[in-house]
Amino acid sequence: MAEYPILTELLNLPNVKVVYFQQVGQNRCNLVVESTLPAALCPICQQASTNLHDQGEPQMLRDLSIWDRRCWLRLTPRRFKCATCQNTFVERLAWREPERDYSLRYEQHIYQRARKEPITQVAKDESLSEEAVQGLFERWAKKRSPHAAGRL
Ligand SMILES: [Zn+2]
Repeated sequence: MAEYPILTELLNLPNVKVVYFQQVGQNRCNLVVESTLPAALCPICQQASTNLHDQGEPQMLRDLSIWDRRCWLRLTPRRFKCATCQNTFVERLAWREPERDYSLRYEQHIYQRARKEPITQVAKDESLSEEAVQGLFERWAKKRSPHAAGRL
C-alpha cells in the first residue's frame, strides 16, 4: 500500500501511518491507518513480542473532523503471540482505548462540547446518536471527577 507521509504528519497520532484515504461524499473522509510499532507488549508477562499472529476485523474509529469533513480511521487490529507465555493478545495503541469506537481525542472533544452545549445539538452536529453523546459525556465526567483524579 501507498504511504502518505504528509497525511500521517497532519493526523498526528502516535505509532500509526496513513496508507490510504478516501473522500466519501461532500462531508466525510476515511483514512486507512496502520500501526508502525515493531513490537507489542504482552499484557500477561510484559515481554515485548514481534511475533505477529493474525489480524482482526477492520474497525472504523471516529476521529476529529478535518476541513469540515467528518473523519473515520480504518484500523485493522494486529494480534501477537507471546513467545514467553504463549498468550495471544491484540496490540494496544495509546490514542484509543480497547473496544472503543472513537479516538481518545475525539471522545475528549465530544465531552468538551457536551459540557457547554445541549446533548441534542452536539449529536446533530456530529451525526452521533444522543445516547452516544450522553454515554461519552458521562464516561469522561467520571474520569474527570476529583475522586478519579486522586487515583492518578
Ligand atoms: Zn506473555
